[in-house]
Amino acid sequence: MTSQEFLKNNFNIPPKVIELIESAEKSCLDIFKKIDEIVEYNQYKVIYHFQKNKLSDIHFNGTTGYGYGDIGRDVIEKIYAGIFGAEDALVRPQIVSGTHAISIVLFGNLKPNEELISASGKPYDTLEEVIGIKGEGRGSLRECGIIYKEVPLLENGEMDVEGIKKAITSKTKMIMIQRSKGYDYRKSFTIAEIGEVIKEIRKVKEDIIVFVDNCYGEFTEKKEPTEVGADIVAGSLIKNIGGGIAPTGGYVVGKKELVENASYKLYAPGIGKEVGPSLGFNRLILQGLFFAPKVVGEALKGAVLLSKVMSDLGYEVLPEYNEERTDIVQAVKFRTEKELISFIQGIQLGSYVDAHVLPEPWDMPGYQDKVIMAAGGFIQGSSIELSADAPIREPYTAYVQGGLSYPQVKLAISIALSRIYS
Ligand SMILES: *Cc1c(COP(=O)(O)O)cnc(C)c1O
Repeated sequence: MTSQEFLKNNFNIPPKVIELIESAEKSCLDIFKKIDEIVEYNQYKVIYHFQKNKLSDIHFNGTTGYGYGDIGRDVIEKIYAGIFGAEDALVRPQIVSGTHAISIVLFGNLKPNEELISASGKPYDTLEEVIGIKGEGRGSLRECGIIYKEVPLLENGEMDVEGIKKAITSKTKMIMIQRSKGYDYRKSFTIAEIGEVIKEIRKVKEDIIVFVDNCYGEFTEKKEPTEVGADIVAGSLIKNIGGGIAPTGGYVVGKKELVENASYKLYAPGIGKEVGPSLGFNRLILQGLFFAPKVVGEALKGAVLLSKVMSDLGYEVLPEYNEERTDIVQAVKFRTEKELISFIQGIQLGSYVDAHVLPEPWDMPGYQDKVIMAAGGFIQGSSIELSADAPIREPYTAYVQGGLSYPQVKLAISIALSRIYS
């Protein structure tokens, strides 16, 4: 039996859906080759830094309590720093998410009356409360007297370099750039674009801290933002860089002093990086890092296929299948609410965990509209595993990301499509 026959016989995928996907896949093969080259490069990069730091069996053991002398944790941080071409890193299970990692960078490196500028327009939803531009502001940067400014993106979706340069004042301490679109219908910023903007910023003020929100970006290109001038970056271990294996955690990588400042907020001033038990997670963090380039490649191929097949069917997609990618997020605009819900439910039905439950739109805290989410992975909230989210509002956009294995993404797309196109 062929794989196509298995799909038809066991998953009841209509032949015309199978044909559509097979034909879209053929058009993607050249793009897949380019992804393979990035995967290969990043796999070598990871192994190089494993070897350079003499990774051994003994590093897999963890510590408890204070976590003093956790040599596994320390070697992980050296490996991360190496991969990012940076001085130092903080890679911890105590950092619970991307938002948390970003938050400790901000709180650790900004003081009252200093200014933070977002160069990429509105930041990711959860950061609005961290900054204090949404909600009551309790505990926010604003409450600490930190000034915040935002430079909107240009009509064409690019960063407004002139606007950013003009926004810089004597108080400007940090400029933040969000690499991935996240859940906004805008383009994501490539490493080359980020590098160019950083160069322009430095022309105005040399010593500004450039901070990049690197969530969803790791290993989608050969370089990371710290290799083109960013001073510090942060992200989540249950996205790209955890390879689907790290059970929790976040990271901060960059200049030594800035990383240390972040560690003072995570733990306590003066204590910082010296503490933090790895609790037996060292091996999983390393194993995840080892697999991450490959897993990111699978997720990218899944996103490319989805983009191609949906645009073949006349839907608006971002990015197009053959556009350069710098994150794993694929946005698709649906025509009706019914179609959107049906598609997201289809993604859930293609999962390997909880494939028997049907997600429904719900009132999620912190969101204006109802939200529907498909997620059936091994790790709660993991979005390097295939997942799809959509607020229920026009223009009915689904954001789809992740996939540990390309065939699973293909299966989920097949099921989702057979629900809206048959
Ligand atoms: C996911 C994400 C975050 C926040 O990460 P969480 O782990 O969900 O807290 C921040 N910025 C961007 C661009 C993201 O994609």
